[in-house]
Amino acid sequence: MSVLCISIVFLQAMSSATYTFEANREYAVSQDQVDILFPFRERFHFPQHNGHDVRYFCGNSLGLQPKSVSYLMEKELEDWARHGVEGHFRAALPWFSYHHVFAERLSEIVGADKDEVVAMNTLTVNLHMLMLSFYRPEGKRYKILMEAGAFPSDQYAVETQVRMHGYDPEDAIIEIVPRHGSYLIEDIDIVNAIIEAGDSLALVMIGGVNYYTGQFFDLEAITKAAHAVGAYAGFDLAHAVGNLPLKLHDWNVDFACWCTYKYLNSGPGGVGGAFVHERHGNNPKLFRLGGWWGNEEKTRFKMQKGFVPQKGAASWQQSNAPVFNMVAHNAALDIYEKAGMKQLREKSLMLTAYMEFLLRQITHLPFDIITPSEPERRGCQLSLLFKDRGREVFEALTHHGVVADWREPNVIRIAPVPLYNTFEDCYGFYEILKNME
Ligand SMILES: *Cc1c(COP(=O)(O)O)cnc(C)c1O
Repeated sequence: MSVLCISIVFLQAMSSATYTFEANREYAVSQDQVDILFPFRERFHFPQHNGHDVRYFCGNSLGLQPKSVSYLMEKELEDWARHGVEGHFRAALPWFSYHHVFAERLSEIVGADKDEVVAMNTLTVNLHMLMLSFYRPEGKRYKILMEAGAFPSDQYAVETQVRMHGYDPEDAIIEIVPRHGSYLIEDIDIVNAIIEAGDSLALVMIGGVNYYTGQFFDLEAITKAAHAVGAYAGFDLAHAVGNLPLKLHDWNVDFACWCTYKYLNSGPGGVGGAFVHERHGNNPKLFRLGGWWGNEEKTRFKMQKGFVPQKGAASWQQSNAPVFNMVAHNAALDIYEKAGMKQLREKSLMLTAYMEFLLRQITHLPFDIITPSEPERRGCQLSLLFKDRGREVFEALTHHGVVADWREPNVIRIAPVPLYNTFEDCYGFYEILKNME
């Protein structure tokens, strides 16, 4: 057996971190042994392949199930059985105020005040809810600027909002495209397009991390540029939340929304989340659609006429809390909180850099990594674009118990997730590619 033993100092552009990586299993295992987050993997269920845990690189699509969910779900069912309607006040976590348990932890994850965040609805619904408040076209200010190739749901949401107000999407939506020969969109191109659109621009709505390339945009610079021309800035954080540190409040972002079943491991179709900056959340004059759960809590059961929005993002709530759905979110955030964003990001930077280092040793397969190479411009995901043989590589991976993600026509996306992926997982992935003819 020939042991490939490469020791290379892997220098990262624009980063102070320097790693000394090696492309062999012993090295990978030794990194797992000193990884303080390694034990967290035990808290999740892994799908099985030939009697072993799969190497799961799909946390950017659907995070794994925390083992604690079934126990907590059982407890919630018991509360319902025992208390019936009284569970609204007598359940271990009373259903009346269930959504409050998320405020503090979500605020830390997205960098906000507690009143600026809420767990509610689902992602696309939240996007629509928030655009009803923040896309209020008037006169010559009616355009929305977004990235080309946005996730389809975002494209449909923006298209139909524009139509709802009587505009033609062809005219009202400005899409920013990558430069020739690239897959990435330069932040400076977005900023320049905002300046150019000027007072025709009502809203900038961008995916914080692009689902396809894994590119993280400069949300602060984009927000600043939007405000300078009098437009709002909102972001879909589906691929950013729980993936990298965010500072939505300090960046002055107007609104954001996310799903919780990707990096936040809260289960398929899980409850979504939203951020509204306090300057808007505390402005009762800003239009929002009303529902009883968004109303002032004190008068919620008075059944009176007249919607009085409560303080903050929670006033965008419509219905009472989807409790069973939130049980999984609660269980998942418990784990997330214990691991800590700072440690997670630190490991994530190293884990993804290791995967990148390993992939760069592969020279006999025709692919490029289209994700930015600068760690500041990406989360954990790497997207591999194949000139050919992509499907064949994907099938070999699947055959060997790797769960990755195939995007037509030729991209394999992999997400080494710091909460449950290991350095050895990355090595195993690399070994399969290395051994292909
Ligand atoms: C995953 C994802 C969605 C999915 O939206 P749902 O409403 O949760 O089905 C939407 N937008 C982006 C950018 C996504 O990555």
